[in-house]
Amino acid sequence: MEVLEKEIISTSQCKDIWKKCLSLIKESVPALTYNTWFLPIKPLSFSEDELKIEVPNSFFIEWIEEHYNTIINNVVRQTMGDDGKLLYVVGDEKESDRVATDLIANRSEKPSPKDISVENTYDDDNEDSNEQFESYLIPRYKFENFIKGEGNQLARAAAIAIGENSGETSFNPFFIYGGVGLGKTHLIQAIGNRIKEKSKSKKVIYISSEQFTVEFIDAIQSGNAQEFSNFYKNMDALIIDDIQFLIGKEKTQDYFFHIFNTLHQAGKQIILSSDKPPKELKGLNERLISRFQMGLTADIQAPDFETRMAILKNKANSYGISIPNDILEYMAYNITSNVRELEGSLIKLLASSSLNSQEIDMVLARKAVNEIASGRQVNISIDYITQIVCKYFSVDENKVREKNRKKEVVLARQVAMFLSKKLTKSSLKTIGLHFGGRDHSTVIHAYNSIEQLLSDDNSTKDIVESLRNKIELGVS
Ligand code: ADP
Ligand code: MG
Repeated sequence: MEVLEKEIISTSQCKDIWKKCLSLIKESVPALTYNTWFLPIKPLSFSEDELKIEVPNSFFIEWIEEHYNTIINNVVRQTMGDDGKLLYVVGDEKESDRVATDLIANRSEKPSPKDISVENTYDDDNEDSNEQFESYLIPRYKFENFIKGEGNQLARAAAIAIGENSGETSFNPFFIYGGVGLGKTHLIQAIGNRIKEKSKSKKVIYISSEQFTVEFIDAIQSGNAQEFSNFYKNMDALIIDDIQFLIGKEKTQDYFFHIFNTLHQAGKQIILSSDKPPKELKGLNERLISRFQMGLTADIQAPDFETRMAILKNKANSYGISIPNDILEYMAYNITSNVRELEGSLIKLLASSSLNSQEIDMVLARKAVNEIASGRQVNISIDYITQIVCKYFSVDENKVREKNRKKEVVLARQVAMFLSKKLTKSSLKTIGLHFGGRDHSTVIHAYNSIEQLLSDDNSTKDIVESLRNKIELGVS
């Protein structure tokens, strides 16, 4: 009876709290957003500062986390206090499958791995559950959801072998390298998760080399360098991501070298990732480079078409959404070199479809792919655009910034303004400032004039297209 009473209280309390949350959220977001993303959420229970809520699928969590994290954090704080937490569970998953702790709200805006693995789901029933350190392992990185493909065959197979028999294979250290967004972090995290699954008492830590450096500097400053070293020397498996960032950090490298040796001699597993193979890590201490080559080095290449399709299908499935094959094919054809972008395009597609209550079709897919492609150009500057455009029209760059009304100068200026608007995230005002302090209406006028020209005149269209390509590809 008592239990039942408690449950009833918890249920009504959680409804009240969620109601308060909703009313605060409603004030902070547009109605459409509120209806799409927040209304479908159901409060489940409340205990010990933790409100459990149910979302329709895991895509919701990702979307909310990415776009409304600040709002959510504020709301949680206002309704539940500083210790308040929000726990998401996905409605259509079985209790046992839930990795609810995967994503816990009320954390810093840019999640660090530390924030994400607030609770280690594996460590709940054994003697080391009171372990005093954070593993930084993210439960969602698993071998099970890492798609096998030609580009990652060796790396994946080795990673699994290490996860199964850590420290006992000759793959020590395991050094994995490859371009951005190809799954290095996923794989090395999956090793850590597998090691913990097999043996909960093993001490495993994942850390980026940047974080490692920060901690090291902290330790030095507070006179705890020895403690820092001992902590890492005490691990059963040490996973360091993006080791290339140790370049130029001589002192950190020194300490790392000793940690490495101690672990290696004790047969403890070391797992490293990098954007380049060891011998290309110019500026890294030679003795480290030679240590890195003692075990197994494996690369990850960009996935082939079939693998890209499989990744998309798998991801869509995990959101509980089915997408027509031709649309997935379109995406897999157009985004070729980066799995993160592939996933990004899928998320954009789902988001725009759900935001506008529109069916997923080719038009939406094209938009999502384009947005991902244009997101790559965040680093294009207005000055760079001006330089390329002026070079093409043989106009002195200074002239477009002055009050020069010569026909070719006006055209170059307008094209440069047009492309600045298209290819950068700068405001009209900022663009105007780059062109001799012109005001935003001048930029609008330029933009409209060029757009008009593009629709009237094919030769201008070709010129602008080719300039755009040059700028995007970074060739002058
Ligand atoms: P990297 O560390 O190499 O930059 P990540 O490991 O962060 O790349 O991968 C980027 C995203 O792509 C992650 O969300 C990851 O889960 C996903 N991913 C990469 N490769 C695969 C794969 N083979 N199968 C499934 N997901 C993948
Ligand atoms: Mg990474």
